[in-house]
Amino acid sequence: MKPQLKILQDFIKPYFRYKCPIVKYKKEEWNGLANTEKNIIYINSENDHLELNCMVGEVTYKPSSKIKLKGSEGYFFTLLHEVGHFKIPFKVKSRKFEKIKADIKKELGVTKTSLDSITYSAEDYFKKDSEYFEFRSWLKGGSMTQHIKVNEWAIKEFRRKRKDINKIIKNIK
Ligand SMILES: [Zn+2]
Repeated sequence: MKPQLKILQDFIKPYFRYKCPIVKYKKEEWNGLANTEKNIIYINSENDHLELNCMVGEVTYKPSSKIKLKGSEGYFFTLLHEVGHFKIPFKVKSRKFEKIKADIKKELGVTKTSLDSITYSAEDYFKKDSEYFEFRSWLKGGSMTQHIKVNEWAIKEFRRKRKDINKIIKNIK
C-alpha cells in the first residue's frame, strides 16, 4: 500500500535541520531520485520497492544485507536511500575519468564514440575492477561508489527505524 505523501514528508523531517526536501511521487523507470539542486525527492509510485538492489545505468549493486522488506516498508527504504543522497556528498574523480574518456575518443576516432564502445575500450585503462565499475556508472551520469555508500547508510538507518516505520504503516491501514 502506497503511503500518503504527508506521511513520507513527516518521516524525513528529522533528517533535515532546515530546508527539508519536498517528497513527490513520480512514475519512472527508477525507484527514486534525489534532486539536491531543486531540493526534491521523487519516489516511484508504480513500484513495490521491495528490492535492496541499487541500479545506476547498466550496473547493479547487490548489498550483502539479508533484510527482507515487506508490505509498505520498501517505500521507506527507498525514501531513506534518497535522503542519504542529501547527507553523503557526491565526490567523483571526474578529472581522471574525463581524461580517460577523451583519450579513448581520440583513440577510437570520431565515428565510434558511443558510450558502449567507450565502455568497452576503457577496460584496459583500469587495473582495479572497482574503478572500472565506477567509470561505467560515471559515464551514465552516476556514481556507483556513492550509491553504494548511500545504500549502506539507508540499510543501517532502516534497521534502526524499522519499529517506528512499522508503527507508521499500521496507522495507514
Ligand atoms: Zn542512489
